Amino acid sequence: MLTYTPDQIRDSRLKPGNTGLVLPVRAAFVILVRNSELHQLRATIRQLEDQFNARHRYPYVFLNDKPFTEEFKRAMEWVTSGDCHFGLVPYEHWSMPPWIDRVRAKWAMTMMGSRVPYGDSESYRKMCRYESGFFFRHPLLDGFDYYWRVEPGVEFTCSIPYDPFKFMVDNNKSYGFAISLREIPVTVKSLWKTTNAFRAAYPDYTAPNNMLRWVTAPDGDYNMCHFWSNFEIASLAFLRSPQYTAYFDFLDRAGGFFLERWGDAPIHSLAVAMFLNKSQVHYFDIGYYHSPFQNCPTDPHFNAQHCFCNSNHSMIYNEDSCTNDWLAL
Ligand code: GDP
Ligand code: MN
Repeated sequence: MLTYTPDQIRDSRLKPGNTGLVLPVRAAFVILVRNSELHQLRATIRQLEDQFNARHRYPYVFLNDKPFTEEFKRAMEWVTSGDCHFGLVPYEHWSMPPWIDRVRAKWAMTMMGSRVPYGDSESYRKMCRYESGFFFRHPLLDGFDYYWRVEPGVEFTCSIPYDPFKFMVDNNKSYGFAISLREIPVTVKSLWKTTNAFRAAYPDYTAPNNMLRWVTAPDGDYNMCHFWSNFEIASLAFLRSPQYTAYFDFLDRAGGFFLERWGDAPIHSLAVAMFLNKSQVHYFDIGYYHSPFQNCPTDPHFNAQHCFCNSNHSMIYNEDSCTNDWLAL
């Protein structure tokens, strides 16, 4: 039985210079990360600070299924302007639930093997389940209303000359994305069927001006479109809502996180498509790169002034992007 010290479970490091700082939105960057990703994350945060946060000083919440090392915490304190909160993920949130058939789960991993990215990885499945159903329940997020997800290694290739959190609040937005694309079908074989069963069980939960058209193929099946969840700026109230948590519980019971390889991106996206009105979702046309795709603003004036990305390479021009279809809704 592993035991952790209180500081390994949650450790808030406030910067004296931020005392009395009043932010327009109760918001934070949320970063699930391993100790071994320290250097990729340093590079990412360096850019995020230069392009945006040095002018705002929003806080950071770092989460990990293993205790952060002192080296990791010090490095993050140095590279950030906002306060840093380090949290350990509780075991129940990072595990295969007891109702999953172990033999079938093992078989699924063997069958997918190396033919599908992370096909044979159990830890990747735990991560996807955590990002789908649990990160917003971490006590370190209790005081926040909005989050911006960041991953080690991503790049912010344009300055962000406004406050996206404030934009969300002022415009009544609940979910913001930068890149959309199509999922690998074998990873979500029964997700659509399970989602339809959920909708039948909870008919009142579907929003009047929903975006289900955006995720539905002409034959009525799932068209694999989803928002790429490695970047998202969203309302925590949305994830904490009875609709979202009922949907997650329903999916978790069905077992597809382990019996298939359901990603948090299609799950967040199907929830957004069902429960939100189109007006509550926003396409952030910001400079953002997560290998192998990027969003790069195409407005030549903005790009020239603010960016170091080539707009010809923006995902918006890729036939696997679903963003133009979303804009056309
Ligand atoms: P991909 O974007 O789908 O290729 O997946 P990533 O490897 O980028 O993982 C998604 C996020 O979860 C990243 O922020 C990773 O740092 C984090 N992550 C993935 N696996 C683990 C893990 O086992 N432990 C921790 N602490 N973080 C993880
Ligand atoms: Mn990633």
